[in-house]
Amino acid sequence: MTRQPIHLLPETLRNQIAAGEVVERPSSVLKELVENSLDAGAQRIDVTLEGGGVARLVVQDDGAGIPPEELALAVTRHATSKLVSVADLFAVTSFGFRGEALPSIASVSHLTLTSRAREAPEAARIEVDCGSTLAEGPAALSSGTRVEMRRLFASTPARLKFLRTEATEARRCQEALIRMALARPDVAFSLVIGGREVFRLPAGETLTARLGRFWPPAVLEGLVAFSRKHGELSAFGLAGRPAYAQNRAERMLFYVNGRPVQDRLLTRAAREAYKGRILSGEYPQVLLFLDLPPEEVDVNVHPAKLEVRFRDEGQIFALVRLALAPAAGGDALAEPSASYNVSDSAAPGLAASWTAEPGTSALPRPSSFGDKPGLLRAWQSFVSPESERSAPLPLAPQGEGSAPELHSDPAFVAAGPAAQPLSQAGLEYLGQIADTYLVLRQHGEKLVLIDQHAAHERVLLENMRRSRSSGDSQPLALPLELGLHPAEAARAQELWAELRACGFLLAMSGADRLIVRGVPPSLPAGKAAEFLREILADRSVGLTGLWTLLSCKAAIKAGQPLARDEALALLELWLDAPERDFCPHGRPVAVSFGAGELERLFKRK
Ligand code: ADP
Ligand code: MG
Repeated sequence: MTRQPIHLLPETLRNQIAAGEVVERPSSVLKELVENSLDAGAQRIDVTLEGGGVARLVVQDDGAGIPPEELALAVTRHATSKLVSVADLFAVTSFGFRGEALPSIASVSHLTLTSRAREAPEAARIEVDCGSTLAEGPAALSSGTRVEMRRLFASTPARLKFLRTEATEARRCQEALIRMALARPDVAFSLVIGGREVFRLPAGETLTARLGRFWPPAVLEGLVAFSRKHGELSAFGLAGRPAYAQNRAERMLFYVNGRPVQDRLLTRAAREAYKGRILSGEYPQVLLFLDLPPEEVDVNVHPAKLEVRFRDEGQIFALVRLALAPAAGGDALAEPSASYNVSDSAAPGLAASWTAEPGTSALPRPSSFGDKPGLLRAWQSFVSPESERSAPLPLAPQGEGSAPELHSDPAFVAAGPAAQPLSQAGLEYLGQIADTYLVLRQHGEKLVLIDQHAAHERVLLENMRRSRSSGDSQPLALPLELGLHPAEAARAQELWAELRACGFLLAMSGADRLIVRGVPPSLPAGKAAEFLREILADRSVGLTGLWTLLSCKAAIKAGQPLARDEALALLELWLDAPERDFCPHGRPVAVSFGAGELERLFKRK
């Protein structure tokens, strides 16, 4: 490369580079905009998005607004109304302070900022396209601020490629908004995706009421309120009893001074509190708010401020572990702690609305989430009609024993004789390692590793999408008995017909015992209880979530030896599946190393 003289980068390019850190995807734009609204004291925030938030994302609030003469500054880098001196940096109480979000977003999209400051006679707006101001002038808006972003990354197609499907991006936006809404039950939020209202949360809810819109009643019932103070530090929130632990960490949410964070220290401390009471693959539900003087925590270590640094890590760790001990300690200790002394909380909305009453059943039923009649369709499409259901999928063997019979799996039968798709793709199967990964050579020069569980999950999911079931059942030699909470029993009633049609043979014994005499043919019998528990607990599971869960339960596991022809059958089906590079949970199915990468690994290059 011929050397160029050192020169300052043009402003637009600087912003685009900075945008790389702050604006990763639509949900990061949403987060920045909503944080700005909260910083502006908004009591109501309405979010609308289309095309996964890439085509259009609008955040409108009723906050303090921006005076017309400051609009241009709002979209200028390092311009902020929240920070004046470096001392402020160590006492940050607002979400924003870097003055980077709006200019970053404006540099990689088409942004229209319309605002009316409280004292201003009229509203004004500024329109910026990929960093260049297109127009500025008076506008119509009765109060607050409206930020409309269109065509994210239209000018940087390379970054567009890193985005996932519209549905996935929309879901991430939804999750980001929920996270923020949980920390501010005093503020009203609404979300409209593609013209459909996903939720509308009134201002001034209690935390449990708000949580009840998103978490299933069976999970809410297992929550215990906790609160613990140490000097100026306080940790409070809601946590699940060990018996309610789940196999995903999705319900562990941490907030530091009202800011949602992903923090290893807090996660470790929480798991430590439950140590010995939950299995190693299980996670408790934890909604934890940590409040501490701003100078005790550095929020300026991550551009999107998702990570923080604590001055005294040991103290935080100990406090969180102690705070969670009552919830983690089993039923005897599961009474709510005596005081919710959070009036001095730094999260104003939360302190005001902290009237959680654990143990009461007066929780609102989730409204706009879940309740989808997806189960029947899921099972109907689980197996193709013409397949013979001779035997269920083998369970992951814990040692020696029955050889896996993958070919009796309807998914494999349904595929029929494949037209050598493996060799068509230039692939050659070499073998299995660690009873988990399939090793392949591609075009003679690429090493490809495939996660067998993830690949099978993908295959099963596609099968469910494509085919239908006749509702056959596989009788159980020993009927299964499940004790149900009232909420689970109610959910079972709701889903009864669908579960039956899917192949579950069910009966109730009394009000709270479910007897299972038969299960759908493709679901390993040993997985039936687990599957039913999860379906009955989770009202928020949508059709895709249900399929994902089913495919995960039914898929061959890691650690299961596969014979060569079984591996080949799996690979051929997998090669046929759309979106085959990722499993339904979004983890990669295959990784490959080209000759170049291998050379680098061996330091030949
Ligand atoms: P920061 O939040 O770090 O200050 P931003 O780029 O996000 O930087 O915003 C720049 C400035 O624009 C803010 O400091 C604030 O004064 C103003 N601003 C942005 N969004 C809003 C809003 N929704 N309501 C009122 N003022 C806003
Ligand atoms: Mg900001």
